[in-house]
Amino acid sequence: MSSSIVNLVYLFAGVLFILGIKGLTKPATAVRGNMLSATGMLIAVVITLLNSEIVNFTYIIAGVLFGGVVGAFMALRIQMTSMPQMVALLNGFGGGASLTIASAEYFSVLNIDAHTFADLLQPVALGADAFGTGAEGQVTLVSIGLTILIGAVTLTGSLVAFAKLQGLVKKNFGLPGGPIGNGLLLIGGLVALGCMIANPSQAVTVLALIALALLLGLFLVLPIGGADMPVVIALLNSYSGLAAALAGFILGNTVLIVAGSLVGTSGLILTKIMCVAMNRSLGNVLFGKMAAAGEAVDADEIYAGKVTSAQPDEVAMMLEVAKRVVIVPGYGMAMAQAQHAVRELADSMESKGIEVEYGIHPVAGRMPGHMNVLLAEAEVPYDNLVEMDRINPTFEDTDVVIVIGANDVTNPMARDAEGSPIYGMPILNVDKAKNVVVIKRSLSPGFAGLPNPLFAMDHTLMVYGDGKKAVLEMTTALNQS
Ligand code: NDP
Repeated sequence: MSSSIVNLVYLFAGVLFILGIKGLTKPATAVRGNMLSATGMLIAVVITLLNSEIVNFTYIIAGVLFGGVVGAFMALRIQMTSMPQMVALLNGFGGGASLTIASAEYFSVLNIDAHTFADLLQPVALGADAFGTGAEGQVTLVSIGLTILIGAVTLTGSLVAFAKLQGLVKKNFGLPGGPIGNGLLLIGGLVALGCMIANPSQAVTVLALIALALLLGLFLVLPIGGADMPVVIALLNSYSGLAAALAGFILGNTVLIVAGSLVGTSGLILTKIMCVAMNRSLGNVLFGKMAAAGEAVDADEIYAGKVTSAQPDEVAMMLEVAKRVVIVPGYGMAMAQAQHAVRELADSMESKGIEVEYGIHPVAGRMPGHMNVLLAEAEVPYDNLVEMDRINPTFEDTDVVIVIGANDVTNPMARDAEGSPIYGMPILNVDKAKNVVVIKRSLSPGFAGLPNPLFAMDHTLMVYGDGKKAVLEMTTALNQS
């Protein structure tokens, strides 16, 4: 097949990827966007298979069948709440694939007749142009080295992220010296990379590079707390894209370079958005502890004698006379699996002529879009989900805000308490509403480990209990009124 036809098809696939990503920016077009990108990938894979000189299709067909069955099984079985784990695992597979491509390219050039591990360590006689002539050979070698480094870090880092989110690894621990230990591993990896480029005939340098990069991935993620994992996963997603783009340079495959670069940059953008929304630097997420700074704040001083609680039926009476209600969901709604109950409450209010909207904070919950996904599952109309910047100016005209399992994203300290660890984090200004109802099980803090002065405000009522149960009781009381 002529290379210009192949490149034209690759270009078409690249356009489909970009249109797909654009579709993913809005819930209403997200499914179509996903389909467009998937179609682009299918076209790219088919044209690559038709174009390349494939000696034997048996392994490819077996791989497609095996991978397809495992992928379909995982996608059908996975719970919405376990989505971050699944993404972590898929990132790891991406990194692992790039690592194996680069290693296979390297070892196929060396063509070592190895029967034992010791055979692998013997230097091989290589021609000067074994990896390509002049600059081309250097580009291939550098790409192989960087793909191995980034692919291996992504592989083990993602597997640790998966294990943490799945609750298989509960402790956070790292190398002695923390970032310094990781820095030494990175320096070791870069030295091995340099040696490999200078003298590619020594397979020992590549083996050292693989080992150091695998360890680096492990110890980069092991010290990080489970709740910070979504940021780490966005970053690892970006790494997996970068590794794929570099693998594209090794194979001379344009569409892999394009697709990998798109994944790499969109992962980086997502990482940045999440860090900004949490008002934390990436360094703080990777190497710091958020809650430590919060221990200085005395919860008793904030709450003592000032918190008012209420029962769900009392809240229903308040809702009956409301004209506008905003529901603010958080991590607790996900924990309680209360999204369907919340939708029923909203339906009941709307049937009484009350205007209902949902205020969505970008990092409410534990993964980007967590609340949107759960509410979409409960078939809440997309138009009723209002982003933070648009909903904030409306709180003053809102009769009741119902906060369900959200804490940090409503904490006024982020706006008012200079010096607080969350100072500067953009929040939903629910305290500006006429009345606030907070549903949670206790006065325990959220992810940031801080007390929330909202709970002690004069116009706030605390409804203690499981989110789903409390909302169901409110709906029953409202329907009976
Ligand atoms: P928070 O973690 O601040 O608070 C959640 C609250 O839910 C808790 O205070 C808890 O209180 C309550 N809760 C737990 N289970 C239930 C239940 N069954 N029923 C009712 N309530 C329950 O969550 P937010 O969503 O407000 O904030 C998200 C936090 O996570 C932010 O600090 C953000 O920076 C961080 N984060 C978010 C990421 C993302 O991508 N979205 C990524 C990384 C971190 P109680 O125990 O009293 O019930």
